Amino acid sequence: MAEHCIFCKIINKKLPAKLVHEDEQVIVFMDINPQAPTHLLIVPKIHINSMNELVPDHAQVLGHAVFVAKDIAKEWGIADGGWRLVANCGDDAGQSVYHVHFHMLGGKQMSGQMA
Ligand code: 5GP
Ligand code: ZN
Repeated sequence: MAEHCIFCKIINKKLPAKLVHEDEQVIVFMDINPQAPTHLLIVPKIHINSMNELVPDHAQVLGHAVFVAKDIAKEWGIADGGWRLVANCGDDAGQSVYHVHFHMLGGKQMSGQMA
């Protein structure tokens, strides 16, 4: 846990969030500022500042996060329509919370623009 990290506080229930899923490795909650009808944050419980800090030991939890996204897409009825998984890394990508996470977006026709 990183002391001043918002997502670590959510993981440790020191800040509220609308939880969608939790297991031993990841937590999933609704983004406070949704940019699509479905906008979830899939967050590894381990604190990693950004994708730049990944090491091979993190592969399992990140792979798990992707499978959780797949299962949620089915549960939430957006699997067939389609959905997007995004990880922003660093300032140029607009990362604002320095705890690695995936945005899961769906429920609308998204722009073809990625950047
Ligand atoms: P980033 O910009 O780092 O890729 O994504 C951070 C995301 O976290 C943003 O979409 C922002 O709306 C969301 N966010 C920031 N603070 C909070 C919070 O306290 N609660 C929740 N649920 N989402 C947050
Ligand atoms: Zn953290």
